[in-house]
Amino acid sequence: MRLLLINPRFPESWFSSKWALSELLPNKRAINPPLGLATLAALSPPNWEVEIVDENIEPIPLEPRADLIGICGMGVQFPRQKELLAYYRGRGHYVIAGGSYASLCPEQYTTLADTVVAGEAEYIWKEFCRDFEQGAPKPLYHETGTVALTDSPTPRFDLLKLKRYTYASLQFSRGCPFRCEFCDIIIMFGRKPRVKSLEQVGRELDELRRFKVDNVFFVDDNLIGNLPVAKKLLQFLKEYQEKHNYWFSFGTEASLNMAQHKDLLQLFREANFGWVFIGIESVDPASLKETLKTQNLHEDILTSIRRIYSYGIDIMGGFIIGFDHDTLDTFEQQYRFITDAGIGYAVIGLLSALPKTPLFDRLKKDGRLSTLEDAHENTRPSTNVIPKSMPYEAMVDGYISLYRRLLTDREIALRIRNKLRYLRTPIYSSGYSTREGLGITWRLIWKGILRGGPRRLWYFLSTLFPLAPSRLPTVISDWIVGLTMLEFAERRLTVEQVEASSLEQRVDSVRSAIGGYLADGKVTLKFRQTGAPDLAVCLKDQLDRPFFKRAAPGLERLLKHTRASVTLRVDALHAHQLDHFQGLLRRLSRYGDRVHIVVDERLRALVPIDSSVFNLVLARSAD
Ligand code: SF4
Repeated sequence: MRLLLINPRFPESWFSSKWALSELLPNKRAINPPLGLATLAALSPPNWEVEIVDENIEPIPLEPRADLIGICGMGVQFPRQKELLAYYRGRGHYVIAGGSYASLCPEQYTTLADTVVAGEAEYIWKEFCRDFEQGAPKPLYHETGTVALTDSPTPRFDLLKLKRYTYASLQFSRGCPFRCEFCDIIIMFGRKPRVKSLEQVGRELDELRRFKVDNVFFVDDNLIGNLPVAKKLLQFLKEYQEKHNYWFSFGTEASLNMAQHKDLLQLFREANFGWVFIGIESVDPASLKETLKTQNLHEDILTSIRRIYSYGIDIMGGFIIGFDHDTLDTFEQQYRFITDAGIGYAVIGLLSALPKTPLFDRLKKDGRLSTLEDAHENTRPSTNVIPKSMPYEAMVDGYISLYRRLLTDREIALRIRNKLRYLRTPIYSSGYSTREGLGITWRLIWKGILRGGPRRLWYFLSTLFPLAPSRLPTVISDWIVGLTMLEFAERRLTVEQVEASSLEQRVDSVRSAIGGYLADGKVTLKFRQTGAPDLAVCLKDQLDRPFFKRAAPGLERLLKHTRASVTLRVDALHAHQLDHFQGLLRRLSRYGDRVHIVVDERLRALVPIDSSVFNLVLARSAD
C-alpha cells in the first residue's frame, strides 16, 4: 500500500519568516516540519510505503504514485487543503482529510474527502488502516475518548527533510489547564495535560541526534501545563544535555505563570532553552479578566518578563487587540509595553472567534460575529469579531499604525537595547556554529542593514556598542526578526492603497512592453479591478526570450508595494522556452503568494511549478 501524506502550503503570515529564510538562511525553507504527519507515518502498518510532502518546502506531485492520500491542515490551510483534496480525488485517488481543523469541524469535510480522521490519531488511524486494507473504510473516524500519549510512537523523522527547517519539532504534552475564552486548543485536547514518558522523549532526542539536528522546538501549546511533570521533564533534559555535551538548543511555548517559579526557570536555563513563546495578549487587567486569562494576572507583566530574561531566556510575545474592554487607547498601551519589555518578536493579532470556542458562542449569541470575514484569515488585517468599544475600521487602522510604529529602525534598536538591560547571557550556545553565525551576520549586514541606508546602519551600530561578544547573537537575531517583520509588513500590511489609476498605468506599461505579442494574439491580458486587483496574463502561443524579458519588469512593478496579484495562465509553452519562463518566475518569486499559476493539463509534465513558492492553481474551474 502506498500512502502519500501532504501538508498544504500555509498562507504567508508573521510566522513564515520569508525574508530571513530566503535571504539569510539559504538552505532553509520553513520554520518547522509537519510533526503530525511523521507521527501518522509511524502509526501506519509497517508494510505500507509512506511518503511525506510538505508544500511549504517543496512542490506537490501532480501525478503521485499513491493508493491513498492523506491531507492535513489547520484552519488557515483549509482553502488549500480543500483544493488538494478535490484535485487528487478528481484524479481517482482515495483521499483522507485530517489535522486540527478537521478535528474541530469534521462536518465541513463530509463532501470533500472519502474519509475524515477527526481528533488525535493514535488509535483511530490504526483502525482506519485496518478497515482500508479490508476494503471497508468508514467515512468518519472520530476520536472522542482520551488518548494516552504513552501510546504515541516515535515520529518517522526519517521521512522529513529536516535540514530544510530551522527547527525540528518534538511534542511532550497535549492539553492546557487554563481556559482562555478564544482558545481552540482546549476544545481539541482538553484541560488535563497528558504527557509522553521521559523514555519516549529520550528516544526522540536520540533519533534527532542521529539526523544531526540540534535546534528543537517543543511544540506543546503549553509545556508547563502540568508544573510538577514539566519540572521532571526539564530535569531529565538537563541531564540528557549534560550527557551529550549540550547538543541541543531548545525553544517552546509556555504560559506566563512560568515567571512565578524560579526553580522552573533555573531548570529551563540549565536545559538550554534559549527562547519561549508566551501568550501575553494584553497588559490591561480588565481585558485579561474578560478573556479568562487569569494566569497573566499574578503580578505586573513587565516584572514577569524581566524575571524570565534574567534566566537567559528570550521571549517571543503573542498579543491580541479587540477585547470588549479594548479601546483606541489600547494601541498606545501595547506599544509602550512591547517597547519597554524589548520584545523583538511581537506578534499582534486582532481578536478572532474560532468555531466551537466559548468566545464564538458568546459573540454569536450577541450578534457580534461578522459573516463578511473569516476567523482564519491571516493574510490581511481583518477579523470576524465586531468590536465593542471602538469602530471596526478605526481598530484596523490603529493596528496597522501600531506595526508601522514598531517596525522603524529606531524602534527595533530601542527594543534591543531595552531587552539587553535585562536578558542574561544564556549558559550555552545558540545552536549555530561560529562559521554559520558569521555567514548569517555577513548576509544580514549586506542584504539588510546596508540596504536600509546610513540611518539604519547608525541604529544598528547603536545596538553594538558597547557590547560583550557573548551578546552579539541576541542583537543579530533581533535585527533579523525586526527586518523580516518589516519586509512582511511592507509587502502585506502597511502597503498604501495604490490608486486605481496608478494600477491602470502599471498595467498599461506591461501592455506597451509586449504590444507586438498582444497584437499577434500570442498573449492576452485581462485586468480586473473589482475585489482584489488581478492581471490575468495568458500565454497562448510560442513566445521568444525578448517577450519574457520585456514582460518581467512591468509585472514585478505591478506587484511591488501593491495588493495586486498576477494570474499567469500557461496554455502553450515549448521546451526551449522553459528557461525564459523560469527566468520570469524568478523575478516574481518574492511575491510568489500573489502569483497564481494555471498550467494547461497537457503541459503539466513539461512546466514544473514550485508550489511552495507560487500559488499553483489546481481547481477545475480555473482549468
Ligand atoms: S494558555 Fe494558551 S493553550 Fe492554554 S488555554 Fe490559554 S491560549 Fe489556550
